[in-house]
Amino acid sequence: MDIDPQFWIRVLLLDSDEVCTLKIESSFVVLDAQTQAVEARFNQIDEPTEVTITGGRIAISGRPFTSKQIIIFPDEPHIFNLNGDDYRGKLELIVNPDSNSFDAINLVPLEPYLAGVISAEMPNYWEPEALKAQAIAARTYCLYIKKRFGDGRNWDVTKTQANQRYLGVAAESAQIWDAVNRTYGQVLVCKQAGGSTGLFPTYYGSSCGGHTENSKNVFGDSFAPLVGVPCPYCEEVAKSDFFFWPTVWFDKTSITDRLLKRYPKLAELVGITDINSIEPSDYRGFSRLTRVELIGSNGKRDFLRAEDFRLAIDPSGQEIKSAICQIINTGDKWAFVQGRGFGHGVGMCQCGAEGMARQGKTARRILSYYYPGSKTIRVY
Ligand SMILES: [Zn+2]
Repeated sequence: MDIDPQFWIRVLLLDSDEVCTLKIESSFVVLDAQTQAVEARFNQIDEPTEVTITGGRIAISGRPFTSKQIIIFPDEPHIFNLNGDDYRGKLELIVNPDSNSFDAINLVPLEPYLAGVISAEMPNYWEPEALKAQAIAARTYCLYIKKRFGDGRNWDVTKTQANQRYLGVAAESAQIWDAVNRTYGQVLVCKQAGGSTGLFPTYYGSSCGGHTENSKNVFGDSFAPLVGVPCPYCEEVAKSDFFFWPTVWFDKTSITDRLLKRYPKLAELVGITDINSIEPSDYRGFSRLTRVELIGSNGKRDFLRAEDFRLAIDPSGQEIKSAICQIINTGDKWAFVQGRGFGHGVGMCQCGAEGMARQGKTARRILSYYYPGSKTIRVY
């Protein structure tokens, strides 16, 4: 663990919890996070023990600490178990301003972090070059998010799909470690607006449906490698009912309710009577919704980004699988028909990456295809 600390990642594991369980099968020290002074040394904890907070102080097995920000640092093999899941690295516990709860953050070098991410994002039996492309994309994405948002908070990324799903040691496998190690320190960079070269948010998604989308239309940011490319590679790899997904219907009232729950300002429309597609991305033969116009029963109108609209109606994204679809008024329901692809469609198409790898393409080729104009470099 002698990697430059700037390449350690702070992963938010628990947000404002009052209790958790901890098990560490090696001896460990508890440090004051500010001074790095040792507060206590512990022998191994073989059975899950409670970490609690009382009077604004964190306690392990009832033993409280004076510092409001502590780091638990296990000895070799540097693994701790939090609420039943094993993680590598250190565990930081921070008392929240309310003094009644704490955050738990995993401090972990990038490579073991990625080993815990990749198989949550891509099957570990896929082609080695696809896994390597995924490793470089995930490493870049994580460093970009850390650089962009990390300074203002105690953590860099969450362990959920909001960033990249991180499952810790349970997700590791020999194939995934191989992909991580063989791309050690490699990231993607591109020319930035000011002319310098830097990281960019290397979004990726399951299956683009035949064409990847411009990030500007989905996430609102503009980077040259994220403008969208045709993808002839994912159709053979994606499950058929994910590539061409079946029609789904939603009651009009339930759509209005779900949209209002996420966007209370839409109450002005009273009820939504019409949904129109505005400036869809035309991919020759099919198109992706980018913006929708919502028309109320009182004639008022409002607009939403198509991805925001889709995920407000179907937060899991499992039914309306992508914004490549048409919305049809069927009376008391809206039908989402002619759907293609699964996910937001921006950046690398994961099924497409696997398709390219099966054709013998290297990780670098895959990445330069899905992020045109980008370059792979090694930063540590
Ligand atoms: Zn694709």
